[in-house]
Amino acid sequence: AVIAQADEVSHTDALTFIPNRRQIMIDLQNAVEFSERYGTPLSISMLDIDHFKNINDIHGHSAGDEVLRNLAGTLRQYIRHPDTIGRFGGEEFLIVLPHSTMKAAAEQAQRLCELIRLSLIPIGEQEISMTVSIGIAQYKLHKEDWQSLLNRADAALYKAKNNGRDRWVVSEE
Ligand code: GH3
Ligand code: MG
Ligand code: MG
Repeated sequence: AVIAQADEVSHTDALTFIPNRRQIMIDLQNAVEFSERYGTPLSISMLDIDHFKNINDIHGHSAGDEVLRNLAGTLRQYIRHPDTIGRFGGEEFLIVLPHSTMKAAAEQAQRLCELIRLSLIPIGEQEISMTVSIGIAQYKLHKEDWQSLLNRADAALYKAKNNGRDRWVVSEE
């Protein structure tokens, strides 16, 4: 039980209690292997909070932490098996969607953008709202590896930011 607990700790993000970067990368690599073997579709979504620096600057770093925990909780409740999520970086979350085309990932991203845009997060006496941008990529079977897939999702996220944020973009490469 002690070993199982230590294993869980090393795969869990200490701030948000969702899977950490190490764990979501394992999920991603397993999903790519599965997709390669069985020829099933696979998509990923990279989600990043818009202007999160402003939230920290205006409300303070601990309010920012609370916003991250709240979003992680929302994502965890929202995501359905076999999809998995993880905290990829500071205010960046990766969603792995096995058996999903980019169209399915885009539909999820649309719903997530709306849900998050409409949510008010209670922080002390205040309520904080935010938006997110999402970059989506579908795995190119037998033509790329997980790094390339991740890079394309990242590039799509960058486009979503440049196109005005609070939106999703699918990698069309
Ligand atoms: P953009 O819309 O382009 O994504 O702008 P942004 O402000 O969200 O992005 P930027 O990368 O400029 O800033 C991210 C900020 O996230 C900076 C950093 O201090 C903050 N951050 C990263 N990790 C944490 C954390 O664990 N807690 C808190 N409170 N802030 C964090
Ligand atoms: Mg950001
Ligand atoms: Mg970021």
